[in-house]
Formats: sequence, C-alpha cells, structure tokens
Amino acid sequence: MKALSLPMFLTIKQNVIEDLTDHLIARIENVTRMKTIILTSNGITRRFPRIIDTMKSTFNDLYVFYVEDSTYENALEAARKISVEDYELVIGIGGGKVLDTTKYAAYVSKKRYISIPTVLSNDGIASPIAVLKIGGGRVKSFGCKIPDGIVIDINVIKNAPIDLLKAGIGDVLSNFTALYDWELSFKNGRAKFDDFAYLLSETALNLILYGREQDIQSDDFIRQLAQALVLSGLAMDISGTSSPCSGSEHLFNHALDQFYDVHIPHGLKVALGTLGSCIFQHRDYSVIVDCLKKYHVNVSPEKSGIDKDTFVGAWMKAKSTRPERFTILDIVDLSTSYLEETYYKISEVLK
Ligand SMILES: [Zn+2]
Repeated sequence: MKALSLPMFLTIKQNVIEDLTDHLIARIENVTRMKTIILTSNGITRRFPRIIDTMKSTFNDLYVFYVEDSTYENALEAARKISVEDYELVIGIGGGKVLDTTKYAAYVSKKRYISIPTVLSNDGIASPIAVLKIGGGRVKSFGCKIPDGIVIDINVIKNAPIDLLKAGIGDVLSNFTALYDWELSFKNGRAKFDDFAYLLSETALNLILYGREQDIQSDDFIRQLAQALVLSGLAMDISGTSSPCSGSEHLFNHALDQFYDVHIPHGLKVALGTLGSCIFQHRDYSVIVDCLKKYHVNVSPEKSGIDKDTFVGAWMKAKSTRPERFTILDIVDLSTSYLEETYYKISEVLK
C-alpha cells in the first residue's frame, strides 16, 4: 500500500462556483499571488462568464487555456506552457475532456491541480488516471496523480444533461464486478490486493446501491454520487491500480470504443458491461438491475444502440484490449451461443 496523499480539500456545495475566488482564497494560502492557469472550454466560459472575470480581477497573474479536445498533444502543449512559463497552480473547470487534459498537464509539469467538474459522469473527477486520445480513433489511459483539491457545485451538476448523471451512477455500479475480478486476480496470483482500497470502492458502491434518495437531481443524491466517485478515485490511487473500479465490464467498454461506433457515455456502457460480467461471475445481478430501475437508468442493449452482433463481438474482443489484466474473462468460456443467451437475458430483465 502506498502512502496516503489525500486532496487538500473537497467541497461539495450549492452555488460554490459563484464564489469560486473567495473559496479558493479560503482554502489555499496566498492563492491570488500564485501564477495561475485555468484550463477550460469555450462552452464553460460562455456558461459561467463571471467566474473568469472575477478571478482575473483578483488574481495577480491568471491565464486561460482553452482545451479543444482531450488529445495527448493538447495535454502536452498545456504541460509545456505550464512548465516553460512557471505557472504554480493549475485549475481545470469542465467535463471529462477538460479534466483529463488538465490532470495530465499538471502531472507532467509537477504542479498543484484543482479539479472543478461540471458533470459527474465518471470516476475521473478524482482518479489518478487521464484518458487521452492518441490518434487513429484510439484512447489510452495514462497514470498520473489525483487532484490536490476538488470543488463540486451541486447546482452546476444538477443542470447538466441527466444522461451524464446516469452515466456517473453506472460507473459506480461497475465497482460491483470490478472488485470481484480484482479479488479473483489476486487469488490467482496475478495482482496485489489492498484491503483499504477495497473498502473505499465498496463503500462508494454501497452509497449508490443502497441509497434511499431516488431523485437523482436532488441535492442529497448529487452529494452522494460525488462522494462515491471521489471514493472510487481514492481507491485507485492508494492501490496504485484502476482494478478496484475497473474489471471485465470496463474491458467490454474498451472493446466497444475500439472496434465499434457506440455513442453513449462511458458510464452507461460499463453499466451494461456490469450485467454481463455479473452473469459470467455467476452472481445475482438483480441487485444491479433493481438499482438501475430505481434511478431510471436504462442501459438495455436496444436503448444503447448495441445490437446482438456488437454485444457478442465486443465481449469476444474485450480481453484483447488489456491482455495483462486477469478477470473472469480468463476463466469463462465465451462461446457465441453463450454470449447470445446472455444478450437475450439482459434485454429481458431490462425491459
Ligand atoms: Zn469507468
């Protein structure tokens, strides 16, 4: 187990983004005197025009870097600017693309990094992993460090598209099968295990699985989802691997991304993958189905635009996306007929 390096602060609050400057002043000593770079998108500055203006009038030296796309090249370009021009503080405000770019740029330039997500669609908000585009339609996960501070505005999250919130739920539920795969890998001598990381990932899962608040746009639910995603990120950080939150269900998602054209958020693809993995692991998947239904998250293959051949093909190719990772896919015999049967079973229970 590696030494804990927790973020300096985690704020989950209503309208905190409106008072972002004051909030940062309260949390980071001499922050306004630090040479600061904000990575964000045009869409975000249009949505929150006052934030940047207020920060510019308060900070001694503030530069805004616009992230067009989460390519490896863009992340390196940002890292170069930060290093060459000696920025001391890096702040990312936006969705997954902006935050992945910021996270990697801050890691490469070895600078302090504050994460301000505007959506809660996956556990990347606090994970030590940046997913960047590397060309040819491919993405790669790069190890980096978790943010030094996280600011989540409940109101901002509430106003984001509801499918992105549902995707966040799906990414937390995937811990159910990921933890099983991780333990399986350990028992087969293929991975190190970490009880505390297991505890964090399972706690995140239980927050969503057994939470009583059913309105996913309520303050309480958004707070719980944010907590669950942050705990998942910390589980990956202290174990030094994504395994506590990424098992065979994520390999299914990687295969969909790599070989097929399925345009739904990551968290919804892994939620569908979680049901497949549950079946391969011979576990009762009703707990996941009930949870998806409780929150009105429909990941049926039909709704997700995944036909039978795509489903079967993606599972067949899943293992090849990360051959070194031991999961249930190394044990189960994935024949076409078994996968077709799985497809029909899942379509039926999600009706
Ligand atoms: Zn994920």
